[in-house]
Amino acid sequence: MSEVEVYINGTYFPKSEAKVSVYDHGFLYGDGVFEGMRAYSGNVFRLGIHIDRLFQSARAILLEIPITPAQMIQAVQETLQRNKLSDAYIRLVVSRGAGSLGLDPTKTSDPQVIIIADHIALYPKELYEQGLEIITAATIRNHPAALNPRIKSLNYLNNIMAKIEGKLAGCSEALMLNHLGQVAECTGDNIFIVSRGKLMTPSINAGILEGITRNAVLELAQSAGMEVLETTMSRHDIYIADECFLTGSAAEVIPVIKLDDRPIGDGQVGPVTKQLSKAFHELVRQPG
Ligand code: PMP
Repeated sequence: MSEVEVYINGTYFPKSEAKVSVYDHGFLYGDGVFEGMRAYSGNVFRLGIHIDRLFQSARAILLEIPITPAQMIQAVQETLQRNKLSDAYIRLVVSRGAGSLGLDPTKTSDPQVIIIADHIALYPKELYEQGLEIITAATIRNHPAALNPRIKSLNYLNNIMAKIEGKLAGCSEALMLNHLGQVAECTGDNIFIVSRGKLMTPSINAGILEGITRNAVLELAQSAGMEVLETTMSRHDIYIADECFLTGSAAEVIPVIKLDDRPIGDGQVGPVTKQLSKAFHELVRQPG
């Protein structure tokens, strides 16, 4: 198999030669933004919305992306085609660029725009059928006034700390609460529950990333006639829920059957989760 070709500022490099400076503030400080998305049958799901979110994240950290959203969309599509991929995961990174060793972003130049199109297998297939067991991490999600989780920044240490806790407890995901003790999200996914026929997910105000998969699932549930609530949620709500699942571009829709060793509902993957997962997989394959 030939090597993946990585886009860096308009030029393609084989994966083994795709490099950025060790003085890049993305590397030195996690100073930059990113997106993760998937292509299905050659179409990137909600590409325009991912690019909008990327530009919003950049705006929030006063990072000027050197190309326009339209050029970015074209570059993503070109990277996919160049790598002859129709089903793929795409990682788009914009780093602050190389600068001095101090953290001052005004002393950097040349933000790096990087696009990687490759395959990703986040969880084994069995977990999609059997469901995940997760724990609540002691590490809370970043306070929005410190680093707003709506910014998809290159600084993921907050999530990684929680992920480590999950892994040490033998789980592949961990639930993160916010500074008020309310449910926020998992380390790389949004969380949903089904309770007495209602679909519930934490509102954006809980301090979460406004997931694109989350929003797609909310729309699907609404059009299937379900009652949908974006609300404040506690761990208690999950403990007594009938079903639970996570959403994310990489993870797609994945069931959760246990939180903190407590079975959710009857401890099996529930019917609403199955229905929404199926509807999501149909949606992403629709052209356009
Ligand atoms: N929350 C966090 C912290 C994430 O990193 C992600 C993306 N991996 C999500 C939620 C899900 O967002 P999306 O559906 O847009 O991929």
